[in-house]
Amino acid sequence: MAGLARDGGLYVPKAWPKLTPDAIGAFAGKPFADVAVALLEPYVGASIPRGELTAIARDAYSRFGHPAVAPLVQIDRSLWALELFHGPTLAFKDVAMQLLARLMDRVLAARGGRITIVAATSGDTGGAAIEAFRGSSRVDAVVLFPLGRVSDVQRRMMTTATEENVHALAIEGTFDDCQALVKAMFNDLPFRDRLHLAAVNSINWGRIVAQLTYYFVAAVALGGPSRPMAFSVPTGNFGDIFAGYAARAMGLPIERLVIATNENDILYRAWSTGMYTLADTVVATTSPSMDIQVSSNFERFLFEAAGRDSAYVRNKMAGLRQSRSIGLGDVIVPYRESFAAERVDETSVADCIRRVKAESGYLLDPHSACAVVAARKTMTSQTQHIAHIALATAHPAKFPDAMETITGERPPLPARLDTLLSAPERVSVLPNDLGAVERFVEDRAGRRRGAAA
Ligand SMILES: *Cc1c(COP(=O)(O)O)cnc(C)c1O
Repeated sequence: MAGLARDGGLYVPKAWPKLTPDAIGAFAGKPFADVAVALLEPYVGASIPRGELTAIARDAYSRFGHPAVAPLVQIDRSLWALELFHGPTLAFKDVAMQLLARLMDRVLAARGGRITIVAATSGDTGGAAIEAFRGSSRVDAVVLFPLGRVSDVQRRMMTTATEENVHALAIEGTFDDCQALVKAMFNDLPFRDRLHLAAVNSINWGRIVAQLTYYFVAAVALGGPSRPMAFSVPTGNFGDIFAGYAARAMGLPIERLVIATNENDILYRAWSTGMYTLADTVVATTSPSMDIQVSSNFERFLFEAAGRDSAYVRNKMAGLRQSRSIGLGDVIVPYRESFAAERVDETSVADCIRRVKAESGYLLDPHSACAVVAARKTMTSQTQHIAHIALATAHPAKFPDAMETITGERPPLPARLDTLLSAPERVSVLPNDLGAVERFVEDRAGRRRGAAA
């Protein structure tokens, strides 16, 4: 529920639960929701009975626009796209957020409490959070986004919800300003406690667990666990690919995880130089959900790579805050084979989208194209027999301007979203000022608390 731990660290499981190859093989043909339950169970323990967990997962995935939830589409001899964008906001974040919101509601109902979610978004997280929490009677959600810096479709996914418990808040600033405001609210401990703040950004452990499912489902669909797989993951905050790492730690034989970055390439540079160094600025690309300066979940990987040494991680993170650069050569060397990192520039993204469309008729969005380019770069004659799965994290219709520039056409929204572009919007605008934002959050959450009392 807390997201960030009070000492500033991130939560990780004490030990990775292990699945046998037979248990993994038995996922074949099972509904997505049932596989999700099997993977959640070791983490949930006895705190939610299995029947209830199953009902929650089935409900969460009933709103997806494809019966398989996350279907695979073959786009080349040994390359598949894993479509993770059939949820209500057309990006992979729905897969975790729809489940997480219901799990949080369940826990709050049992405890009799309320929480306030504050989240900063560069685009996709905000819509996914508002869609997942709208109508909840125990959660107020306030999403901060940088005014004028998200796509129309992304903004409307945050501003057209009519429920009283969800609020879109445009900040006169950048995404980094929004993120700093959220951090500052969490560091204001009296405020944090008074409002029962909770975080649902990609460091929330519940999101990582919910993202395990599609790694297992896709692997089993293509002959796993006896056939080796490689997954290529469009990466920003390292949450999605960390779920791949976790799937491997739990027993799924993944030969290689490919970190696909766009021109914001801190991870690619870390892999090629051993230095994890913040860039001076964030470059705006056609894959804005990966436009990050620092990958917040990378800390979890560091913990694993350093043999689960907290002191090492604490030191490194302090070093990063102080000098904006840390050396990692010693710990990531053993991962050079099982992880690969590729940087995909804007020209390659556009070329890939046009080429795949011409060759197979399939339309990739720019995030997914990063994964496809990176997968192809890492394929060698020795790894051609491996099934390469590129995570398709967004629907091309979510980024119509970028797609039009690249292909000359604006992809139409799926029919289930046909009122999105005409529905009235509800949004508040505030300056980049902590006091003003805290007053807003307190007012909105307090109003509902008052009404409930
Ligand atoms: C959030 C997002 C990503 C990056 O995922 P991380 O877990 O932050 O690495 C990639 N693609 C899309 C479409 C996203 O919304």
